[in-house]
Amino acid sequence: MSKQPKSPQPKVTRSSTCLCNAVQLTVTGVDKGAVLCHCANCQKASGSAFAHNYRLTKAELTFEKGEDVVRRYADADTKTGNTVARHFCGTCGCPLYLINSAFEGLVILHTGSMQDRTQPSMELFKENKHAWVGEVTGKARL
Ligand SMILES: [Zn+2]
Ligand SMILES: [Zn+2]
Repeated sequence: MSKQPKSPQPKVTRSSTCLCNAVQLTVTGVDKGAVLCHCANCQKASGSAFAHNYRLTKAELTFEKGEDVVRRYADADTKTGNTVARHFCGTCGCPLYLINSAFEGLVILHTGSMQDRTQPSMELFKENKHAWVGEVTGKARL
């Protein structure tokens, strides 16, 4: 059995804008793909049945514009007990990204503000999933 050598994971760059375009940001990090979150907090924050989130680790977040417009809600009443900082545009209310206190360097972007269509590879808090939502996880490319 040979040990797999650890090669540095390539970084990708993803961009995001809010509904009113006041905020424009870029995240560079290791691509961890998209997930769905069915937790009640994500349902409320997204205004929808689930949140479709894109995760980047070892990530750096830079603002092209609008950093001063971004508002932050520290969501501490979570199922895991971790504080999730939910960032959104203070002008249009568009959810932009999440920072989870338990994961250093992880930036979670909302796919809607990225206009990203990556199929999720995982679902979180499935016990709270709406019954009419079908099976959606799987490989992005078949
Ligand atoms: Zn906005
Ligand atoms: Zn959630």
